[in-house]
Amino acid sequence: MKTLNVLIVDDSRDDAVLLEEMLRSGGFLVSSRQVETPEGLQEEMANQFWDIVLCDNNMPELDARRALDIVCRHRPETPFIIVSGGLSEEAASGVMKIGASDYISKHCLSRLVPAVAREVRRSGGRGFDSKRLAGELKQKLAGREGAALFLVEPCRYRDFVGHAGEALLSVFSERLAGFALGGRVWRYREGVFALVLPAGGSSAEEIARGISESFRRPLLAGNEEWFLGCRIGGSLHSGQDSEELLRQAETALDCARQSGGPCFYRQGMEQRARERIEMDKALFQAARNEEFDLAYQPQYDLVTGRIIGAEALLRWNWKGNRISPAVFIPLLEETDLIQEVGEWVLRKACSFNRSMQQEGLPPIRMAVNLSAIQFRQAGLAGKVERALQDSGLEPRHFALEITENIAMHHGSKIVSTLNELKEMGVELALDDFGTGYSSLAYLKNFPMDKLKIDQSFVRGMIEDKSSEAIVRWVISIAESFGLGLIAEGVETAEQAALLRQWGCSEAQGFHYCPPVSEEELKMRLAAA
Ligand code: C2E
Ligand code: CA
Ligand code: CA
Repeated sequence: MKTLNVLIVDDSRDDAVLLEEMLRSGGFLVSSRQVETPEGLQEEMANQFWDIVLCDNNMPELDARRALDIVCRHRPETPFIIVSGGLSEEAASGVMKIGASDYISKHCLSRLVPAVAREVRRSGGRGFDSKRLAGELKQKLAGREGAALFLVEPCRYRDFVGHAGEALLSVFSERLAGFALGGRVWRYREGVFALVLPAGGSSAEEIARGISESFRRPLLAGNEEWFLGCRIGGSLHSGQDSEELLRQAETALDCARQSGGPCFYRQGMEQRARERIEMDKALFQAARNEEFDLAYQPQYDLVTGRIIGAEALLRWNWKGNRISPAVFIPLLEETDLIQEVGEWVLRKACSFNRSMQQEGLPPIRMAVNLSAIQFRQAGLAGKVERALQDSGLEPRHFALEITENIAMHHGSKIVSTLNELKEMGVELALDDFGTGYSSLAYLKNFPMDKLKIDQSFVRGMIEDKSSEAIVRWVISIAESFGLGLIAEGVETAEQAALLRQWGCSEAQGFHYCPPVSEEELKMRLAAA
């Protein structure tokens, strides 16, 4: 009999032992481990294969939703059962919707064994015998060096399992078949498909793009249209055996899960994946120990030359190196840590701004960046309100910068949150304006005060006519919508002069001042 690897996420040792005992007496050969922290779960998921995860809901450092997020980042197909004493029916159905397999009350554990048996049977049925696939691939690939193996999975697959499940997966695989050598698509694992692409002709990158494109069109299943999108990991066949090729494509798929775009296997990718896991762990610790810092970049009035505001920018040092926010913020977002860290940023920026005023420095407006993820949790407006109240900072001295792709994630809910913030008197700025989708439609619906001209356009506007046109267009949009305007990434006097001439009233950038420490910002304010 095969051993069942069970990961128990629970803070009570007694409960974990009880679950193990019940599974054993239900006839399973169990090998289990218990974790109770995000780091622990992260590590177990990264390092070992688990047949099933049994998860409590109320732990000091973790709840089921967050745990499921972590599990899905590593192996979204893992059966995940919530075993909890204190989860309301409502909360339970919420977590089921985002992909838990079942919910079992600790007061009614008789369902445990049948539920685990069912899930293991299901995932075994869905699971693919990778030896057999490797054998079939070997035949397919013989004499075809330069062919590529792709693993493709639908995005947000778990969201759909309950609804259209099987039907959806089969139309998904039909669409994929159009790209495959001989039209053959294998089911590799639950929700993951494998296909071989012929050598020669279009490059693997082009085909990957073609596949991504094709999933922008809706899939029709059960008389409904579904927008799934997909993630693609690929590896080129250059004589390695088919098991190795599969393993490489897996690594590439892991990378695609993180980056969003298609990924191709390159040498050293495993090493980078390991580093990422290490960085993830360090980020958990940093969040717990508040090891982050803020830098402040002053914002200037182009006419008077005065500092009128500052943008708070998150900083993190790891192993003696400054890590770019462009690297670690996506990691914080994936693990939902951005909720905690984002709140810390809010509070710190408010209280620092207030303390400068108390020291008698000229009042400025402090801007904080918000991630789309921060809108996912209820109560964002309340958190901002509390940060303001606790620090004593007036809302008019505070601004939030959000990017337009926020709306892609949250639709109408976000508008009401933005309205709440606006009513409080906080300024709302649309960051990176012009780089996202359907900017104008959002402008009509979002209660914005200000547009930020993205630095990529500012950088290009002197040499390149289209950037110039975009900058002037953003300026005219701001005028006609009655919005404020600030240019970011201004690096030269020439850019500054042109922006002023075209009617932009505020700017920030290396030309004026890079992001600086608290002390330095105070000095600059005092000198003004
Ligand atoms: P952003 O909001 O577009 O921030 C402006 C970025 O441009 C900052 O990069 C800033 O240091 C940089 N910058 C400023 N002036 C110039 C210039 O003249 N030339 C050039 N080339 N760059 C300039 P940074 O600090 O690396 O931050 C990168 C991004 O990380 C930010 O882009 C923002 O999206 C995100 N971020 C930073 N702090 C936070 C935070 O607390 N929360 C969230 N959610 N995101 C943050
Ligand atoms: Ca910003
Ligand atoms: Ca920006």
